[in-house]
Amino acid sequence: MRISVFGSGYVGLVSGACLADVGHEVLCMDVDPERIATLRAGEVPIHEPGLDGLIRQNAEAGRLRFTTDTEEAVQFGSLLFIAVGTPPDEDGSADLQYVLAVAESIGRYMQDYKVVIDKSTVPVGTADKVRATVQAALDARGIPLDFDVCSNPEFLKEGAAIEDFTRGPRIVVGTDSERVREAMRECYAPYNRNHDKLMFMSVRAAELTKYAANAMLATKISFMNEMANLAERLDVDIEEVRRGIGSDPRIGYHFIYPGCGYGGSCFPKDVQALCRTARQVDYPAQLLEAVEEVNNRQKGTLFAKLNQALDGQLAGKTIALWGLAFKPNTDDMRAAPSRTLMEALWAAGAKVQAYDPEAMKECRRIYGERDDLMLAGDRIQAVRGADALVICTEWKEFRTVDFAWLKRELNLPVVVDGRNLYEPKALQQAGLLYYGVGRGDSA
Ligand code: NAD
Repeated sequence: MRISVFGSGYVGLVSGACLADVGHEVLCMDVDPERIATLRAGEVPIHEPGLDGLIRQNAEAGRLRFTTDTEEAVQFGSLLFIAVGTPPDEDGSADLQYVLAVAESIGRYMQDYKVVIDKSTVPVGTADKVRATVQAALDARGIPLDFDVCSNPEFLKEGAAIEDFTRGPRIVVGTDSERVREAMRECYAPYNRNHDKLMFMSVRAAELTKYAANAMLATKISFMNEMANLAERLDVDIEEVRRGIGSDPRIGYHFIYPGCGYGGSCFPKDVQALCRTARQVDYPAQLLEAVEEVNNRQKGTLFAKLNQALDGQLAGKTIALWGLAFKPNTDDMRAAPSRTLMEALWAAGAKVQAYDPEAMKECRRIYGERDDLMLAGDRIQAVRGADALVICTEWKEFRTVDFAWLKRELNLPVVVDGRNLYEPKALQQAGLLYYGVGRGDSA
């Protein structure tokens, strides 16, 4: 099939490369000329394991191309995937300007029947807006052409995006058209051989399914952080509680790690957008509002713990920071807890020496050159000459540490562990002051 993908970010590139890999002819379009030039030069502008190779192979095979030309992209595919960003608007609702800009272009340039597919995460009712926008552009041309709009939300997670796209447990398609069902069956057939993963439902149900999935995962995290904060005050180790509840198959071990709050481009904005949707229909979504509040508070706990450990004397101190990305295996720092921490540290007059295996370039892009930020070449350099260490991201390479070495390196022997990577006793034995999340009297 000929497929055009609008938006060549995490979702657009992964979808485009994976669909090309199973034999489709794919054209990825983006309005960012630098991004497209990078891709055409054989480089990948984001860090996602396996994506470089997949893009290279399929580009070399001629099945995957890149363009900034909207008209070309609209005319190329019979399936037009919209995978542009839907960032939060000022009031928290999803900003649909990029999605609707693509819809307008589709109406302006299409010459024959198209299936328009909303892959971006968009509020219930957006497919209707996309349909109306395409139709208005067609009407302006005075050309009666047929098209369908469906919802096909994406559930991939950064860091394991290719695996999720190709082997995810479900492919959700919201449509009431048999023609679209057939087209989507054909598109996803290579991923649907072992058992039928395609779930057809109403367009609105598909739109809400994506928000419900992210809200559920965010709720699990905030719930666990709430328990951790309680455990801390009750002199209980939350890690024992985590194992205790995770063993119940109705609860399970997934997504119940306490930590320094969720970040990334999806959970914060999607929970906010769902809260906003609830307000629009006069429903007080108390649980969702609390999920967000608990998370915002949790992102501040690293600073609070450090400030307390240093008796409020942060001015002039140098803090080592391990992990900048919002989670391991990505360079994405959108809404990352590391940013909340660094910005609070700078406001308090402290300096930061940071290291992340992948997000250094992204950190430089966001914050530029500044006197109170040193980007270290490795985790050892980050700690050299520092007063205290904070761990923000659970990268594998931070899991094993020589605590005796750490004690010698840090001027004040303070370690704040936002991901509960270590056993409190091991650090205490090495003479370090250890502050985890909900680790009872150690915290
Ligand atoms: P991104 O910011 O990485 O990429 C979006 C791209 O769209 C950018 O490169 C931008 O230049 C481009 N763009 C903007 N306007 C355009 C236009 N008119 N035409 C063509 N390109 C345009 O975003 P992302 O992380 O890939 O997310 C895209 C959507 O998918 C969002 O709605 C997001 O919520 C959803 N989503 C993201 C993830 C994830 O893990 N990142 C997972 C599932 C769903």
